[in-house]
Amino acid sequence: MSLNPVHMLIAQNAVWAASFEPQDSVAETPKVLWIGCSDSRVPESVITASEPGVIFVHRNIGNQVHLDDNNMLAVLAFAIEHLNVDYVVVCGHSDCGAVQASLDASPSVVPGETPVTFPNEASDAPLNVWHAPLTTLAASMPNVTLDDFTKANIQEQVNQLCSTDVIQNVWASGRNVCVYGLIYDLASRRLTDLEITRSAPKATSTSSLTSSSAFTLSPNGYAKISADWRHTLAPARGPSVKS
Ligand SMILES: [Zn+2]
Repeated sequence: MSLNPVHMLIAQNAVWAASFEPQDSVAETPKVLWIGCSDSRVPESVITASEPGVIFVHRNIGNQVHLDDNNMLAVLAFAIEHLNVDYVVVCGHSDCGAVQASLDASPSVVPGETPVTFPNEASDAPLNVWHAPLTTLAASMPNVTLDDFTKANIQEQVNQLCSTDVIQNVWASGRNVCVYGLIYDLASRRLTDLEITRSAPKATSTSSLTSSSAFTLSPNGYAKISADWRHTLAPARGPSVKS
């Protein structure tokens, strides 16, 4: 009997699940909301050695934040207001097909007209509608390199996120939710903080969770946070506003 890719996933899951002790239930208490690209090469839990339960996730093509996207807005509201997540990540990555497509299409953008990123599709096809803001952004940055535009996209989406009612309201309430911009390099597998973090306007405390002494990797490949560092993962401390 041959296995199709879905059957293969189920078979792999069975082996993976057998490597753990049985558990009754798992609480949903994530510490981080991750907004990333749908790219199969950037699975947030895998690249951060995170166990299930740590990262609440929204991924889409090009890690974009559209202010009329109810999917993203619902995930954001649920994470912040119901799960009390205080750390939000927008993560882009190298060699992003979405970013490249918008960059490639940008020279043909006519000012005042909605850009068509994929000429083989209807101008109102979902893929073109979804790409329009990213291609418009690319058109505003002539001669930008792919790397710089990838970072500019992350910055743009961090700014977009911070303009949402959810973030504005939680900041106004006194909670210091921090929004980070990260980039993942496919070749080196390294995740880098772009240091464009935004937090509540009057926040002043600082903390950097970069020490590798903070955790060890379990035999399952997950990060196990050391007792000395566990308290630092408590809510709402982060760098002051940088942008
Ligand atoms: Zn991508």
